[in-house]
Amino acid sequence: MTSPQPLILMQNVDKHFGSFQALKNINLSVTKGERIVVCGPSGSGKSTMIRCINRLEKHDGGTIIIDGIELTDDLKDLNAVRREVGMVFQSFNLFPHMTILNNLMLAQKLVRKTPKAEAREVAMHYLERVKIPEQADKYPIQLSGGQQQRVAIARALCMKPEVILFDEPTSALDPEMINEVLEVMVDLARDGMTMICVTHEMGFARSVADRVIFMDAGEIVEEAEPETFFSTPKSDRTKLFLSQIL
Ligand code: ADP
Ligand code: MG
Repeated sequence: MTSPQPLILMQNVDKHFGSFQALKNINLSVTKGERIVVCGPSGSGKSTMIRCINRLEKHDGGTIIIDGIELTDDLKDLNAVRREVGMVFQSFNLFPHMTILNNLMLAQKLVRKTPKAEAREVAMHYLERVKIPEQADKYPIQLSGGQQQRVAIARALCMKPEVILFDEPTSALDPEMINEVLEVMVDLARDGMTMICVTHEMGFARSVADRVIFMDAGEIVEEAEPETFFSTPKSDRTKLFLSQIL
């Protein structure tokens, strides 16, 4: 049996900021339904790597192909990529002057051209999914951090993406709110959503990740199933990192 075409393929990807090389020869292949956790020290290139996947950053060497679409300078339909790849940031990034419902309807209208009534229905469906339908008419500032992050996840889901990228989604939250967000993420993972999660929540990695990727200084240093990754890390850099966070 041939393996299915990967949803995300990065081959020999480099990224520079001026003379500084933030990504060095990144090779990553993610198939539909896979759940990947990315960890590593601050500044190791985790955000840069996932931002290259939805073209918030342009890579400058190697190849990135998302569901058959190669990310190139003459990429005609950036919206096609943005429809496929949802993103959840550390800092929620909701529009403060819009209600929760309007936050969830906006991208559907702009990127998917979804009619208003349908966009509202989809928004309410996913607000129920993240268990806060009663917050629909409030403004972001009226919600707790954990609730705002659940709205951000619902907003990503509204686009019906093929994959969702999470960039440290619980790092900005007060400790008591971390679990409510992780629960939503675990729920999505169990439901078969393809996910790449930059996180240091190792309990999450153990319970849902198919693979854990460790980055350091712009490189993927090690990649393994969670059990192996935590019990028998190979590289000294991985061992040092794990000793600092566990
Ligand atoms: P991580 O998410 O692992 O903490 P980042 O991907 O944010 O790391 O950053 C990797 C490196 O690239 C860091 O040294 C950071 O300072 C640098 N970097 C990230 N974004 C930019 C930028 N827009 N301009 C210049 N340097 C950047
Ligand atoms: Mg980061």
